[in-house]
Amino acid sequence: MAQSFGLIGLAVMGENLALNIERNGFPIAVYNRSRDKTDTFMATRAQGKQVQPTYSLEEFVAALEPPRKILIMVKAGGPVDAVIEQLKPLLAPGDILIDGGNSLYEDTERRTQDLEALGLTYIGMGVSGGEEGALNGPSLMPGGTRSAYEKIEPIVTKIAAQVDNGPCVTYIGPGGSGHYVKMVHNGIEYGDMQLIAEAYDLLKTVGGLNQAQLQATFAAWNQTDELNSFLIEITAEIFKVSDPDTQEPLVELIQDAAGQKGTGRWTVMSALELGVSIPTIIAAVNARIMSSIKAERTAAAQELSGPGLIAPVDQATFIDQVRDALYCSKICSYAQGMALLAKASAEFGYGLNLAEMARIWKGGCIIRAGFLSKIERAFTDNPQLPNLLLAPEFKQTILDRQAAWRSVVATAAQTGIAVPAFSASLDYFDSYRRDRLPQNLTQAQRDFFGAHTYERIDKPGTFHTEWAALANG
Ligand code: NDP
Repeated sequence: MAQSFGLIGLAVMGENLALNIERNGFPIAVYNRSRDKTDTFMATRAQGKQVQPTYSLEEFVAALEPPRKILIMVKAGGPVDAVIEQLKPLLAPGDILIDGGNSLYEDTERRTQDLEALGLTYIGMGVSGGEEGALNGPSLMPGGTRSAYEKIEPIVTKIAAQVDNGPCVTYIGPGGSGHYVKMVHNGIEYGDMQLIAEAYDLLKTVGGLNQAQLQATFAAWNQTDELNSFLIEITAEIFKVSDPDTQEPLVELIQDAAGQKGTGRWTVMSALELGVSIPTIIAAVNARIMSSIKAERTAAAQELSGPGLIAPVDQATFIDQVRDALYCSKICSYAQGMALLAKASAEFGYGLNLAEMARIWKGGCIIRAGFLSKIERAFTDNPQLPNLLLAPEFKQTILDRQAAWRSVVATAAQTGIAVPAFSASLDYFDSYRRDRLPQNLTQAQRDFFGAHTYERIDKPGTFHTEWAALANG
């Protein structure tokens, strides 16, 4: 019997998505380049399920009912191209290829053009939620031709996470838009993780909280309407774990050098190319880079001393201030991510619905959070909102809490604790809200050394001044 869906790539994500698809009533054919993975899967988790193993791409393609719907879950980059090249001669017009990996959106654009010229359809679908999400309901971000999406809609709406107002999937837009949105989702995830890391550092180093107090603080924050989220929840869980041998908090035994796979860097590169300011996300990527030069930092620690003073603080007040600083910073980080999506949408013709982007991130994915309902509401109320900071609710929150936020950033500076994402968020807020910035001087300098000209605030036109001649009389 022909299967209604096919999946290539049985690593963590592929296995779990295959089981999710089968559980939701869609018999599935699977294929993996290395036979052993398929055999192990069939002998273990797929046993007794409506999963058909195949051992060549010819057998795999023949097992699928036309038009074929094939989800590719292999390593991003060259492997996706390799799989597509092998599949091309085996497919028929109308067949739909879906790339569910973390592909660069530009690669997806290229593949879409290449395959659609052959009469095939291509969907670049961001998948978030890690292995648990893949199995029980991820957030899905499919981009490509709308008619192709409609053919897979009955499947993706069932396998996605479900929230109060629907499944965490929607048609994102044409071409590489699905992978673009997933990339920005990951950039926002970098920002969230760095902000939480900075809150932890401050609470521990300045506030003097021990592991149990850290656990209780994050668990309490997770109960709040504002900070309730998957990442705060797992942070509280992490503080429950001690090393079985030493009884030390396990997190304190982990090397402080963070890895990255590239989606954060891509977000930063795209923002720079599009001219969108995303300082919190840039700070988060930089923080991972700085953390990774561990040996050099260890040597520098012997040479470069800081203030060495821990300011005496009232612990309860400080915890509340850090919570406020975290929330204000988080609002700024999301404001940047949404502004980037808005600019990309205009530039690339994606036609993104920002309220829908927030909605499909409410469940299944790593950045899922109660807070996303507020963002959904802000863009539903005003789809043309220029910046999230101007949404009434967020505006009031920041105005009410900025004193605490400033105090936390000042305390960090005075005590020598780096808080790059907290500071970048505050700088973003202050730069965005100040009517006059010092770039009048920048313009004067550019005109001085490069005759780049400038505009004036008191009269229209373009001006150039012979600065050196005037300065020297
Ligand atoms: P990996 O990224 O580790 O990729 C491993 C899979 O790719 C294996 O099935 C492997 O086959 C296959 N593969 C590698 N090279 C080739 C090739 N040249 N030809 C054919 N197949 C190849 O797997 P994951 O499950 O972690 O991720 C899959 C995709 O999903 C990636 O793009 C990843 O970035 C993305 N993703 C991952 C998440 C996660 O939490 N892990 C979350 C969200 C997205 P073989 O067994 O033969 O080596």
